[in-house]
Formats: sequence, structure tokens, C-alpha cells
Amino acid sequence: MEREDISEKNDYHRRDSCRLCNSKNIELAMSLEKTPMGDAYIFSDRLGEEQKTYPLDLFLCNDCSLSQIVDVINPEFLYRDYIYSTSISLGLRDHFKKYSEEVLKKLNPANGSLVVDLGSNDGTLLRFFKNNDMKVLGIDPAKDIAKKATESGVATLPYFFTKDVAAEVKERYGPAKIITANNMIANLDDLSDFVSGIKNLMAPNGAFVFQTGYGLDLFEKDLIDVIYHEHLSYFSTKSLKPFFKNNGLELFDVKRDSIKRGSLRGMVQFKGGPNKISDSVEKLVELEESAGIDKIETYRSFDKRMQDTKKSLHHLLNYIKGQGKTVAGYGASVGVTTMLYHFDLGKFVDFIVDDNSSRHNSFSPGLHIPVLSPNSLLEKKPDYSIILAWQYSKPIIEKNQDYLNQGGHFITPLPKFEVI
Ligand SMILES: [Zn+2]
Repeated sequence: MEREDISEKNDYHRRDSCRLCNSKNIELAMSLEKTPMGDAYIFSDRLGEEQKTYPLDLFLCNDCSLSQIVDVINPEFLYRDYIYSTSISLGLRDHFKKYSEEVLKKLNPANGSLVVDLGSNDGTLLRFFKNNDMKVLGIDPAKDIAKKATESGVATLPYFFTKDVAAEVKERYGPAKIITANNMIANLDDLSDFVSGIKNLMAPNGAFVFQTGYGLDLFEKDLIDVIYHEHLSYFSTKSLKPFFKNNGLELFDVKRDSIKRGSLRGMVQFKGGPNKISDSVEKLVELEESAGIDKIETYRSFDKRMQDTKKSLHHLLNYIKGQGKTVAGYGASVGVTTMLYHFDLGKFVDFIVDDNSSRHNSFSPGLHIPVLSPNSLLEKKPDYSIILAWQYSKPIIEKNQDYLNQGGHFITPLPKFEVI
């Protein structure tokens, strides 16, 4: 495949204002180590190329309390090398089924109403709406995925959603009674264009439903590894409520969900729309305030906990390496790149293993640590293995009893530092 030369274009820019409220009163909340693009695992043919690192600092807006990354990598660079995965896991399928049922129950649209899903992937969510007599349309910029979804019965347009695309879609298909967007708004830098698009496309009595990573879970669960360049915003009810209000919209329902390590689902309508504003909105704002989501100290203590974790890791790893022992890592995801850089683990880890076979024989972004199959734990017998994908510690340990039985040890860095 021919690779377009985009090296002359600007690869990134740094914002100096809040992405939601445009305030310049933003403050550095936590300085993370610079990383390359977190998912840019490469194969041996590209080992000679340097992978540039970019700042990854978390800022807090002192006006609307949005925590956010201000260093924005040009999406053309960010997504150029990504291997898009189209398979939706079984857990996510069940989640989408329930999601569609809850949305239909809450909004009660007439049969034949138009539902548009932004970032619709293979059409899994829309298929549930279609089965409930809704008219459906997907919008997803990945051409191959859009084509496959269309062929399987969920019409999908291969576009990035912008306000112009929204106007065009409305012209062709009519206004949307329901617009959904899952796991995508955190990746957008220009939310003002996006929300103009929603307003262009949404019916006067319609609703916009989004699900996104939740800023409260970030520091409550110490999710250092959900911070990477694709995730520009870590939203909360407190920061989104005034944003929608200033755009002539109204957040009328919110729900906290544990999927994807902690999510926030919100429903939005035009100001004065048909839905009553649920108590859930004020309740979640109160919960966020009592947890200190708007206080710089909250992020400083998150930072301190991560520095302590790094110290514990280095203390142990220096000792182990001093004895000439070997160390592996478990997990080769986008978030693992943040872990490897922020905890400065590159010098300790001899190789990484991952269950995903498409990653095998690749090299980690920037540090170029080889990624191998989990069988390597039995073949190469590393003395210690750090579970970098720590949200899966339990199943990883259960699956690798043979490794433990032959004398290997696991190190879990988070949520609690432990050696097994
Ligand atoms: Zn703000």
C-alpha cells in the first residue's frame, strides 16, 4: 500500500484555551511523560524510523472544570497507521442491546423515526434500533467498515461528522429523532463544529445520546492508562451541562456506567424540549463536586499516587535486575504506552506479551520492545512479569497458572502494588 507523504503538514498543535468553554484559565493538573502515538506499534521494516514523542499534559479548566489534553495530534497522523478492528466483543454487543432498549423506553419514538449513529462501526447498535422498527443510518469515516455495514443492511455513510455533513444528511434523510455517539466525543478537538452538526440534524423534539469515558473514574480508579493522545477530554456532568446550555441545548438525563472502565451517558435536547430534566443531572454534579472534580488538588494527589507507584516499581525492578533476572510485560495496548513511559519501564522490560495475535512480532511505540505471544512466558521463563494491562490482572493470572507453577512471578502495579 502506498503511504501518502504527510510529513510536511503540521503534526500537532497546542491549545491555549478550554475545549468546552474557551476559557484561558486552564491550569496544568498533571504532567505526564511525553509519548509517541500510543497505538503506533510497528513491525521490523520500520524499526529504523524514529517515532516522535509528543507532550501529554493533563490540564484542568478552572471555569468549567473539564480535565483535558491540550496537545492535539493532527488526526491524519494519529489514525494513519492504525489497524482498525471491526469485531465487537460479546460484552459490548449485550451492552448495546440494553442501551438501545433503555433509549427507546425513555424517548418512546414513533415507529419509522430516524436514528443516526455517529462512529457507527459495523452497525451493531443500529441493528438493535432497526429490529425495533426504527429507520437507521450510520456515519463512520472508515470506508471499509461503512461499506461492510451497508452490505449487511445498515446503511452507512463513510464521512467524518461535521456541521456541513449534518446539513446534507438532513436534506437527504430528514431530521433525526435520535442521534447517538458512543466513545467518540472524547476524541474530538472541535466540539463547537460537532455540536452545530447535532443541531443541524436533530429534530425539534429529538434527542442526542452520547456515551463517553467519565472524568470521575479517571482519578477515583487511578486510570493513568486511559490518558493518551486520542482521548482529548475527560468529561463530567459539571463541565457538559453549561456547554450544552451555551449552545441552546439542555442536558436532561445522565447515567454512570461501568462499561469501558467507567462511562458517562447523557441525553440532550433543544432548550425547552419535550423531556423533563431528570434529578440525575443535579445528583451527579453534586457527586462530582464532593469528589473534588473541580479542584486542582484532586489531580495533584492522583499524580502523587502515580509517582509512588513508579517508586515502588523502580525499587523492586532495580533489585531484580541487579540479580541478573529477566522481566516481561503483559499487555500491548494503546494505554500500555502511557504506562511504559510514565513509569519509565523501558530499561527494565525485556519483552512484552499480548493475547492479541495481530500484535505478535511487532515492537512497542518508541521504545521498540518486542511483542510476543503469551507462550513466551513458558518458553523464555522471565523471572517476573509486570501486568501492564492491569484491568485484566485477574483473568491473566488465572490463565497463566503454569507460568507461576514453574517459578514465575507477576507484578500488579495498580490498583495496588503487589507481587504474586
Ligand atoms: Zn472550560
